[in-house]
Amino acid sequence: MNIRDSFYRHIAQTSPAPLGIEIIKAEGVWLYGSEGERILDLISGIGVSNVGHRHPKVLEAIHNQLNKYLHTLVYGEMILSPQVQLAERLAQALPKNLSVSYFVNSGSEAIEVSLKLAKKFTGRKKLISMENAYHGSTHGALSITGSSWLKEGYGPLLPETSYLRFNNFSDLEKINSDTAAVITEGIQGEAGVVTPKINYLTALQDRCKETGTVFILDEIQSGFGRTGKLFALENYNIIPDIIVLAKGMGGGMPIGAAVTRPEIASVITHDPVLGHITTFGGHPVCCASSLACLDIISTNGFLETIQAKGNWIKANLVHARILERRGIGLWWAIKLSSSTEVLQVLTTSLRRGVLSDWFLFADDCIRISPPLTISQEELSFGIHVLLDSIDELKS
Ligand code: PMP
Repeated sequence: MNIRDSFYRHIAQTSPAPLGIEIIKAEGVWLYGSEGERILDLISGIGVSNVGHRHPKVLEAIHNQLNKYLHTLVYGEMILSPQVQLAERLAQALPKNLSVSYFVNSGSEAIEVSLKLAKKFTGRKKLISMENAYHGSTHGALSITGSSWLKEGYGPLLPETSYLRFNNFSDLEKINSDTAAVITEGIQGEAGVVTPKINYLTALQDRCKETGTVFILDEIQSGFGRTGKLFALENYNIIPDIIVLAKGMGGGMPIGAAVTRPEIASVITHDPVLGHITTFGGHPVCCASSLACLDIISTNGFLETIQAKGNWIKANLVHARILERRGIGLWWAIKLSSSTEVLQVLTTSLRRGVLSDWFLFADDCIRISPPLTISQEELSFGIHVLLDSIDELKS
């Protein structure tokens, strides 16, 4: 059986029409297919390859760690240098109280940890999230996802969850002394890059402080340079009680983290001990890769290039059929008049060598979130292919 037939037979498919491109190599911003395709990656798979595919510094860090050790025992028992160094670097890069990391393998898992920490720390049960928020696909993370269609057929999910309208100040009154945690993305990704109104996140933070509620910030998609800052919280002057990281964190390797204050982290140490366990979370090779990724993004001048490229997109991605452009840094949503138009543009662009996507809760928008290392020339190519594909829309 050839690999294509085997794929359809043995890999669980998440949609009736998979892309079905057989990838044989990926380098920088380019994906290479078995039929000679060379495809510009405008989505970074998704929000992961912030430093590009196979960045040499990431590969070097992985190789160095491979020569020392792979898995031993990961969670907070043995002293593993790549883990400790990474936790230290995150503590230096984040606001000063966020100094303790719990490492996991993915975004959803990091969300699970953050919810458990908040419940145990406050002794409360109620969880509040935002309409149109995406936090992951495990039972807990799905429970706080702010859209019903992804949940159909998977209930019952967690009880005592409710939703606020993102950017609605009066809804903040619903946070009260029964609320264990409020969780939000700083910028709503899957809603189609919805940025917060001025002072909205500080008002949310203040309301959490007033009510003794744990404020969890999901930076799984916004972190590691995507918005032109290492973390999106730097754009809004906020300090959450827990920040949740994953995706771009690993430089292409699977890793996530919940980073919090010592007194919150310590609730998993006692009564019962082993309050959260992970066999592979914070794998030494992934931590080594993540350290290299942090080095690259922290290089002098790197973050400034992101802002400049974002501004270039805003200035150049102009077309009469585009209804709205929302974005920050190298993270943009381009709104057309329907999901049908978006699908047409995505299909035409892919034929011309540019991979883009829609958003889970904004299927009338095209996603632009390339590797942050994309050159001006590569970016121009991608944007012009999108514009040409929009030109070709049937009227
Ligand atoms: N939170 C946000 C904001 C995300 O974008 C995602 C993934 N799209 C997740 C959580 C879940 O991460 P993962 O797929 O690694 O479980």
